[in-house]
Amino acid sequence: MAKKNDFFKPDTTEEEKFLEKSLRPINFSEYIGQEELIKNLKIAIYSAQKRKKPLDHILFYGPPGLGKTSLSILIAREMGVSIKITSGVAIDKKGDMAAILTNLNEGDILFIDEIHRLPSSLEEILYPAMEDFQIDIVIGEGPGAKTIRLEIPHFTLIGATTRIGLLTPPLRARFGMVEKLNFYSVKELGEIIKQSSEKLGVSITEEGALEIAKRSRGIPRIANRLLKRVRDLAVVEDKKEIDEVLAKKMFELLKIDENGIDMTLKDFLVTIIEKFNGGPVGLKTLTAITGEERDTIEDIYEPFLMQLGLIERTPRGRIVTEKGYRYLGYKKGKKLF
Ligand code: ADP
Repeated sequence: MAKKNDFFKPDTTEEEKFLEKSLRPINFSEYIGQEELIKNLKIAIYSAQKRKKPLDHILFYGPPGLGKTSLSILIAREMGVSIKITSGVAIDKKGDMAAILTNLNEGDILFIDEIHRLPSSLEEILYPAMEDFQIDIVIGEGPGAKTIRLEIPHFTLIGATTRIGLLTPPLRARFGMVEKLNFYSVKELGEIIKQSSEKLGVSITEEGALEIAKRSRGIPRIANRLLKRVRDLAVVEDKKEIDEVLAKKMFELLKIDENGIDMTLKDFLVTIIEKFNGGPVGLKTLTAITGEERDTIEDIYEPFLMQLGLIERTPRGRIVTEKGYRYLGYKKGKKLF
């Protein structure tokens, strides 16, 4: 198996977390792209401000790294309220959820990442909380147990999910705004890369930025990570500026082609072609054979490969398209189909 680059994985090291934080847009003018969504959000924000009411609950969905967390932080800043950031995998006890909700202040934002992973018992606490700003707490145990209803501050829930389809209908119905984040164009990613370079204190040419943008799979988080790798090479080679030549050199070392396909993705496609004659192959089999997690395949690999037209999802499973075969230098020969 080839060495993995894993640019798409969530931040794990302290350095990665720091980088992510330091490059986050600090105001709406630094938040590039997603124009339609930003327009709608601004209307909602200014209306809430004029009415002196908290914002409606918002659900953001789309693949990881597209800017859901960043946008939520910006909304809080614009509204002048605090934001509490948590995740559907981080809370597992009813008491924890109740504590989070009762500790919010009027107008605060509660951001729950990966909200589709929230256990259903906790989801049920959210229903009255979102609708009536009340929660039910059980005191005591057994026959003597009593339920009391507590008022909680009027807050705004912002949920983020990579899997809108996994959200239960009652939870989804309680969001006033449901907004999709789209992949970014190369031009937009180029802007993000130039902005990040400035924050990192490194100069970059237009062509250098576009070279990185092309390989970023439409995702700002990947753009920032690739930029950092190219910046490392610039430092090592004593280059004052990142240009096209330097960027290309780094991508050759990283084995990332001009569409952002790395060895991990190539292996993934080759497995479907060689082991399953190009498919169709089910997700379960793919996770078993590639050793990748289901979420990684569904949230990260597939949307990107489908966007490039290299695979298709059919009711019987995934298939590599003719374009996919050609891309990898295979012929759509008899044996393969
Ligand atoms: P998500 O929550 O969707 O996984 P994040 O909000 O954590 O994504 O974004 C990942 C990183 O990408 C952020 O740290 C930020 O630097 C960058 N980023 C995301 N969206 C934008 C954008 N629209 N403009 C500029 N930078 C962005």
